[in-house]
Amino acid sequence: MRSSPDYILKIDGLASPDDREESQQQQSLRGRPWIAVRWQCCSVYSRIYRNRQGTAYEGRCPKCGTQAKAAIGPGGTNSRFFNAG
Ligand SMILES: [Zn+2]
Repeated sequence: MRSSPDYILKIDGLASPDDREESQQQQSLRGRPWIAVRWQCCSVYSRIYRNRQGTAYEGRCPKCGTQAKAAIGPGGTNSRFFNAG
């Protein structure tokens, strides 16, 4: 009796296309963390990026330009997802 079926193969070093795309994005945005934002004003999603001081994530609604700011650190957000607008 076979204990491990040979039709289940794990191939090391073969990343999915999604994984490769993700790593490329991370490289191009190195040092610029972001969070996902749901803009309640326009019911759209986008990313906002950390400011230069590293004190907050800041960005604008892609549709109406409403500004949002999510503080980083104690009292701020630890979430990767944020509601604004
Ligand atoms: Zn908006």
